[in-house]
Amino acid sequence: MKIVLIGVQGSGKSTQGNKLAAKLNVPYLSTGHIFRELSREHTPLGRYIKETINAGYLIPDDKTLKIVSKYLKRPEYQGGYVLDGFPRTRGQAESFSNGIDAVFYIKVRDEEALARLSVRNDDRKDEAPPALSKRIELFHKFIEPVSEYYRKMRILHEIEGERDISEIHKEICDILKI
Ligand code: AMP
Repeated sequence: MKIVLIGVQGSGKSTQGNKLAAKLNVPYLSTGHIFRELSREHTPLGRYIKETINAGYLIPDDKTLKIVSKYLKRPEYQGGYVLDGFPRTRGQAESFSNGIDAVFYIKVRDEEALARLSVRNDDRKDEAPPALSKRIELFHKFIEPVSEYYRKMRILHEIEGERDISEIHKEICDILKI
C-alpha cells in the first residue's frame, strides 16, 4: 500500500506514519528527514538546503521531485511505503503519479502545533521560532491546493489530530481496513 500523510509540523504525522508503516510492514519515508540529512552535507546542495530550511521556505519542486523519485526507486520501496511531508505543493502532487492509495491529512490547530513544537526536544531544536511560524504559514498556503487535488481524486481522509495517538491510529487503520 502507498500512503501519504500530510499535516503541519507538530501535527503528529511522523508518530502516526511510523506506527502505520510498522502495521503495514512497509518503510516510512519523511521528506523533512531526508532534507535535514542532506542539509548536514558539506556540498553546495547541502548548504542550499540548510539555508532554505532555516529560512522556513520549501525546497523548490524540481529539486524535491528529483530527490524523492530517486529514493522511491530503491528496492525497499517497491512493495509500498508511508510517505510523510510529500507532496506538499500542488505542483508536486500533479507531477507525482505513483499510484497512491490513500492520503491522510492530520489536522491540528496552529496554536496546538506551536505549543507542541515549543516543547519538542529532538534534532530540530536548533530551529528558530520565526522559522516555525513561517513554516506553519507556508504550510497552509501550499497544502490547501494539495488536499483539494486529492479530495477530487476521492482518496483524501481528514483526521482530527488533537486526540490520543492510539485513537488516531485506530481510525486510520479502520479506514484502510487493516
Ligand atoms: P518537515 O519536517 O516535514 O516540516 O520538513 C522540514 C523542511 O524540509 C520543510 O520546512 C521544508 O523546508 C523541507 N521540506 C520537507 N518536505 C518538503 C517538500 N515536500 N517540498 C519542499 N520542501 C520540503
